[in-house]
Amino acid sequence: MKGNLLVLSGPSGSGKSSLIKEVLLEIEDAYFSISSTTREPREGEVDGVNYHFVSKDEFERDIDAGFFLEWAKVHDNYYGTSLKPILKELQKGKLVMCDIDVQGHKIAQEKFASLITSVFVTTSDQKSLQERLLKRGTDTHEVIERRLANAVSEMTCMNEYDFVLINDDFKTALHDMLAIAYASRRKISLMDVSEFISSWANIE
Ligand code: 5GP
Repeated sequence: MKGNLLVLSGPSGSGKSSLIKEVLLEIEDAYFSISSTTREPREGEVDGVNYHFVSKDEFERDIDAGFFLEWAKVHDNYYGTSLKPILKELQKGKLVMCDIDVQGHKIAQEKFASLITSVFVTTSDQKSLQERLLKRGTDTHEVIERRLANAVSEMTCMNEYDFVLINDDFKTALHDMLAIAYASRRKISLMDVSEFISSWANIE
């Protein structure tokens, strides 16, 4: 594989999508893995851009067909990452970014550990996350409560990640996100070290 995987997790509303959007503008070789989900689109979300919005039946058929690198149930909806497009982009040497929850991250690590750099995005406290979700205005109070409860359990997994971004100030978080994205492409685990050394030592 020539490319690498940059996995972003963290509570809903922590700003993962906005960070990914900016990295895509900045790094030419970056590719966003569009997940499939059974949740309803939010206002402004576009099918095939933010997610592939599919029915529960379709999603379950895709699970049975082995279509997913990983899938999980989050907030009572299915979410999943398709394997084929990711493999194709990795072969091309791309920086493949995935926005997946903590369960998906564990599965991805089992399959692609050497290719993954992982980033946990969050806020400095739960209150600012709540304010952000309320301000976004895309979810009902009941949905926001569910997302906040889920955020508490997601936070307990943050020590499983390589990096953490406390996204209180977007400009600072983006600066750090770009630094991580660039550095992720230089990880030694992406290299076939013995092959490199033998060709490096070949003088003639
Ligand atoms: P949202 O509904 O706010 O877009 O996403 C809810 C949660 O689902 C977020 O934590 C997000 O990271 C996660 N998520 C999005 N796509 C995937 C996916 O393909 N797989 C998994 N496991 N989680 C995902």
